[in-house]
Amino acid sequence: MAENGARLAVDRMLGRLARWLRLAGADVLYDPALDGAALLERARFEHRPLITRDKRLRTAPDVFYLAEQGFRDQLRAVAERFRLALVLRPLTRCPRCNQPLSEVGRAALLGRLPPFVWAAHERFARCSGCGKIFWQGTHAERILQELKALGLAPRSERGG
Ligand SMILES: [Zn+2]
Repeated sequence: MAENGARLAVDRMLGRLARWLRLAGADVLYDPALDGAALLERARFEHRPLITRDKRLRTAPDVFYLAEQGFRDQLRAVAERFRLALVLRPLTRCPRCNQPLSEVGRAALLGRLPPFVWAAHERFARCSGCGKIFWQGTHAERILQELKALGLAPRSERGG
Protein backbone atom coordinates (compact mmCIF):
# COMPACT_ATOMS: atom_id res chain seq x y z
CA MET A 1 0.00 0.00 0.00
CA ALA A 2 2.90 2.36 0.67
CA GLU A 3 4.34 1.76 -2.81
CA ASN A 4 2.22 4.42 -4.41
CA GLY A 5 1.00 6.75 -1.71
CA ALA A 6 -0.09 9.38 -4.18
CA ARG A 7 -3.26 7.49 -5.15
CA LEU A 8 -5.93 7.91 -2.51
CA ALA A 9 -9.68 7.89 -1.99
CA VAL A 10 -11.30 10.47 0.29
CA ASP A 11 -14.80 10.19 1.66
CA ARG A 12 -17.41 12.79 0.83
CA MET A 13 -17.32 14.31 4.31
CA LEU A 14 -13.77 15.48 3.62
CA GLY A 15 -14.08 17.76 0.60
CA ARG A 16 -11.61 20.33 1.83
CA LEU A 17 -9.02 17.65 2.52
CA ALA A 18 -9.57 16.19 -0.97
CA ARG A 19 -9.04 19.58 -2.59
CA TRP A 20 -5.83 20.23 -0.68
CA LEU A 21 -4.47 16.77 -1.42
CA ARG A 22 -5.04 17.45 -5.12
CA LEU A 23 -3.29 20.81 -4.82
CA ALA A 24 -0.39 18.92 -3.26
CA GLY A 25 -0.37 16.72 -6.36
CA ALA A 26 -2.10 13.57 -5.11
CA ASP A 27 -4.43 11.55 -7.35
CA VAL A 28 -7.60 11.66 -5.25
CA LEU A 29 -10.85 9.81 -5.84
CA TYR A 30 -13.47 12.11 -4.35
CA ASP A 31 -17.11 11.99 -5.41
CA PRO A 32 -19.94 13.42 -3.31
CA ALA A 33 -22.26 10.90 -4.98
CA LEU A 34 -20.40 7.97 -3.42
CA ASP A 35 -20.82 7.04 0.21
CA GLY A 36 -19.99 4.25 2.61
CA ALA A 37 -19.98 0.85 0.95
CA ALA A 38 -20.06 2.19 -2.63
CA LEU A 39 -17.04 4.39 -2.03
CA LEU A 40 -15.09 1.61 -0.31
CA GLU A 41 -15.87 -0.76 -3.18
CA ARG A 42 -14.69 1.73 -5.79
CA ALA A 43 -11.56 2.57 -3.76
CA ARG A 44 -10.68 -1.12 -3.52
CA PHE A 45 -11.33 -1.66 -7.21
CA GLU A 46 -8.89 1.17 -7.97
CA HIS A 47 -6.41 -0.01 -5.32
CA ARG A 48 -6.66 3.20 -3.35
CA PRO A 49 -6.52 3.35 0.42
CA LEU A 50 -9.65 5.09 1.71
CA ILE A 51 -9.36 8.07 4.05
CA THR A 52 -12.49 8.51 6.10
CA ARG A 53 -14.01 9.85 9.28
CA ASP A 54 -16.68 7.15 9.18
CA LYS A 55 -16.18 5.16 12.38
CA ARG A 56 -18.01 2.16 10.95
CA LEU A 57 -15.20 1.66 8.45
CA ARG A 58 -12.27 2.14 10.79
CA THR A 59 -11.44 -1.54 11.32
CA ALA A 60 -11.03 -2.35 7.61
CA PRO A 61 -7.35 -2.96 6.77
CA ASP A 62 -7.25 -0.65 3.75
CA VAL A 63 -8.99 2.23 5.51
CA PHE A 64 -7.19 5.11 7.20
CA TYR A 65 -9.49 6.53 9.84
CA LEU A 66 -8.96 10.21 10.62
CA ALA A 67 -9.68 11.36 14.13
CA GLU A 68 -8.52 14.90 13.33
CA GLN A 69 -11.17 17.52 12.59
CA GLY A 70 -9.32 20.51 11.10
CA PHE A 71 -8.10 20.15 7.54
CA ARG A 72 -4.54 21.14 8.45
CA ASP A 73 -4.31 18.44 11.10
CA GLN A 74 -5.92 16.02 8.68
CA LEU A 75 -3.40 16.86 5.97
CA ARG A 76 -0.50 16.41 8.37
CA ALA A 77 -1.82 13.02 9.47
CA VAL A 78 -2.34 11.84 5.88
CA ALA A 79 1.04 13.18 4.74
CA GLU A 80 2.77 11.36 7.56
CA ARG A 81 0.88 8.09 7.11
CA PHE A 82 1.50 7.89 3.36
CA ARG A 83 4.83 9.77 3.31
CA LEU A 84 3.41 12.12 0.74
CA ALA A 85 6.18 14.70 0.89
CA LEU A 86 8.43 12.20 -0.87
CA VAL A 87 6.19 11.45 -3.81
CA LEU A 88 4.13 14.55 -4.55
CA ARG A 89 4.68 17.47 -6.90
CA PRO A 90 2.49 20.38 -5.77
CA LEU A 91 0.31 22.29 -8.22
CA THR A 92 0.41 19.66 -10.96
CA ARG A 93 -3.21 18.53 -10.70
CA CYS A 94 -6.58 20.27 -11.00
CA PRO A 95 -8.15 20.69 -7.54
CA ARG A 96 -11.63 20.51 -9.07
CA CYS A 97 -11.52 17.46 -11.34
CA ASN A 98 -8.30 15.67 -10.36
CA GLN A 99 -6.86 15.64 -13.90
CA PRO A 100 -3.16 16.38 -14.44
CA LEU A 101 -2.16 19.83 -15.66
CA SER A 102 0.03 20.29 -18.69
CA GLU A 103 2.09 23.30 -19.59
CA VAL A 104 0.61 25.55 -22.24
CA GLY A 105 2.49 28.10 -24.31
CA ARG A 106 2.02 31.72 -23.30
CA ALA A 107 1.38 32.88 -26.87
CA ALA A 108 -1.58 30.53 -27.23
CA LEU A 109 -3.32 32.29 -24.36
CA LEU A 110 -3.14 35.84 -25.64
CA GLY A 111 -6.65 37.30 -25.52
CA ARG A 112 -7.97 34.36 -23.53
CA LEU A 113 -6.95 35.64 -20.10
CA PRO A 114 -7.26 39.01 -18.40
CA PRO A 115 -4.46 41.13 -19.92
CA PHE A 116 -2.82 41.87 -16.56
CA VAL A 117 -2.64 38.15 -15.81
CA TRP A 118 -1.18 37.35 -19.20
CA ALA A 119 1.36 40.16 -18.94
CA ALA A 120 2.47 39.37 -15.41
CA HIS A 121 3.25 35.67 -15.75
CA GLU A 122 5.56 33.53 -17.84
CA ARG A 123 4.31 30.02 -17.25
CA PHE A 124 0.80 28.65 -17.58
CA ALA A 125 -0.78 25.22 -17.27
CA ARG A 126 -4.09 23.85 -18.46
CA CYS A 127 -6.27 21.16 -16.91
CA SER A 128 -6.74 18.28 -19.32
CA GLY A 129 -10.20 17.72 -17.84
CA CYS A 130 -12.04 21.03 -17.45
CA GLY A 131 -9.67 23.24 -19.46
CA LYS A 132 -9.12 25.72 -16.63
CA ILE A 133 -5.88 27.74 -16.92
CA PHE A 134 -3.54 28.03 -13.94
CA TRP A 135 -0.55 30.28 -13.37
CA GLN A 136 2.07 30.85 -10.71
CA GLY A 137 0.62 33.96 -9.12
CA THR A 138 0.19 35.08 -5.54
CA HIS A 139 -2.63 32.59 -5.01
CA ALA A 140 -0.36 29.72 -6.06
CA GLU A 141 2.41 31.09 -3.83
CA ARG A 142 0.09 31.11 -0.83
CA ILE A 143 -0.94 27.54 -1.53
CA LEU A 144 2.70 26.48 -1.78
CA GLN A 145 3.55 28.21 1.49
CA GLU A 146 0.67 26.41 3.18
CA LEU A 147 1.75 23.06 1.75
CA LYS A 148 5.34 23.65 2.85
CA ALA A 149 4.22 24.47 6.37
CA LEU A 150 2.32 21.19 6.40
CA GLY A 151 5.29 19.19 5.14
CA LEU A 152 3.63 18.57 1.78
CA ALA A 153 6.03 20.40 -0.50
CA PRO A 154 9.81 20.46 -0.88
CA ARG A 155 11.21 23.24 1.24
CA SER A 156 14.02 24.41 -0.98
CA GLU A 157 13.31 23.17 -4.48
CA ARG A 158 14.35 26.45 -6.02
CA GLY A 159 17.24 27.11 -3.67
CA GLY A 160 15.34 29.18 -1.18
ZN1 LIG B 1 -9.99 20.58 -14.08
